[in-house]
Amino acid sequence: TYDIHIVGGGLAGSEAAWQLAEAGFKVRLSEMRGGGDTTPAHHTDDLAELVCSNSFRSDDADSNAVGLLHQELRALGSLILREGDRHRVPAGSALAVDRDGFSAGVTAAVAAHPNITVVRERIDTLPHTPAIIATGPLTAPGLSERIAAETGRDSLAFFDAIAPIVHRDSIDMETAWFQSRWNKGTSGRLPPGQTEDSLGLSSPDVGTDYINCPLDKDQYHAFVAALIDGEKTEYREWENVPYFEGCMPIEVMAERGPETLRFGPMKGVGLDDPRTGRWPYACVQLRQDNALGTLWNIVGFQTKLKHAEQVRLFRTIPGLQNAEFARLGGLHRNTFLRSPELLDATLRLRSRPNIRFAGQITGCEGYIESASIGLLAGRFAIAELRGETLAPPPVETALGALLSHITGGAEADSYQPMNVNFGLFPPIPGRTKKADRKKMYTDRARSALAEWLAA
Ligand code: FAD
Repeated sequence: TYDIHIVGGGLAGSEAAWQLAEAGFKVRLSEMRGGGDTTPAHHTDDLAELVCSNSFRSDDADSNAVGLLHQELRALGSLILREGDRHRVPAGSALAVDRDGFSAGVTAAVAAHPNITVVRERIDTLPHTPAIIATGPLTAPGLSERIAAETGRDSLAFFDAIAPIVHRDSIDMETAWFQSRWNKGTSGRLPPGQTEDSLGLSSPDVGTDYINCPLDKDQYHAFVAALIDGEKTEYREWENVPYFEGCMPIEVMAERGPETLRFGPMKGVGLDDPRTGRWPYACVQLRQDNALGTLWNIVGFQTKLKHAEQVRLFRTIPGLQNAEFARLGGLHRNTFLRSPELLDATLRLRSRPNIRFAGQITGCEGYIESASIGLLAGRFAIAELRGETLAPPPVETALGALLSHITGGAEADSYQPMNVNFGLFPPIPGRTKKADRKKMYTDRARSALAEWLAA
């Protein structure tokens, strides 16, 4: 017997199970991997497997919305953040993790909890008992059909892309070199008077210990042309489905114009090629992917090129001419609900309130966002099982901003998966200097969270 049934042992389901179990409730956690099923993106039977990047993105809680979300999750006793911190690998201001150590840590903690029973089984129906559905972007077809039948609408499905991973010892370090952009990282610093914003940097590409592969003008333009001409895997049934911007395939970016990649994942600014003492015309960056430092992923190189084509083309990048690939890029399905219409403010399915949804299937995007919605679903369920009600976290907090986007803040018709960002927060009233704004958001969030926790 159990108090609640959680379906899906990913980032969200594991976190929800942990919260409920820590509060003293008995949880049945059903995970289909390890029971004879898998998804097109998972490679192991571990709970909370990271299917693509090993980064939880910025850990800066003063000026970055996902960094703030990390801080809020830590304050709420998140298992995902606890294990993330335990298995951290160097990535400058980002929180990146050893993927195997991280998932093994979550799996061990959940399996050892006396209030959680992990059952390796696939669930094909919507439970009639209190339940949390956290089956993610690759929800098994039987259950997705039941959800679509229940909600009266098809869950929207489209592709997300993953980037290739390279063996470190196959990279030619005579050509490539280690450096973080602008030398910013755990020991580095941005140029005086500059901010990440003013330099057009986004959090994932700053940090320590990137491997840089430089391209001159001719090499760059030849590479872009080859990307556009490259043989793609056809996904006819998914033609015209929109890509999520953060996961756009590199060849789709290349098609947008010859300079697009040079201002995106292939920018050379802030990187000093030791052989020339200058910034390269363009540059490919690799980020450490495991604790041993033996595997490195090519940052921003999600692709739907055919595998043989990826090997041929990526080996034209200087430094990667002998690259051995541990994993090649690919594209996968992403299933999510029209949550603003279907879910209430505490993530319950309006038509069947014994069921909550959590994680990416609600239309949040990303490991940490999914864990956050798992944590909240768990907390709401705890209150309900106790016969209490829990007010959602204030919209001034990162958790509250993300939740409110999902449960009502967004337009149902144009609803798209979304990472947490300051655009989801209520604006700071009055006139403020742009430079001060992020700190004002995060300071306001911290006091709002403290008040909510006190209540
Ligand atoms: P998941 O972590 O996918 O967990 C869902 C679990 O449910 C799985 O373990 C699955 O086996 C199980 N399951 C499914 N159906 C059933 C069923 N019927 N019965 C029982 N169990 C079931 N996020 C990032 O932050 N960075 C990235 O780089 C990134 N890249 C991605 C690349 C791809 C190809 C995909 C598909 C997603 C990517 N994401 C990325 C998103 C990331 O996967 C999610 O944000 C996160 O894993 C979602 O967590 P979740 O718990 O909702 O789902």
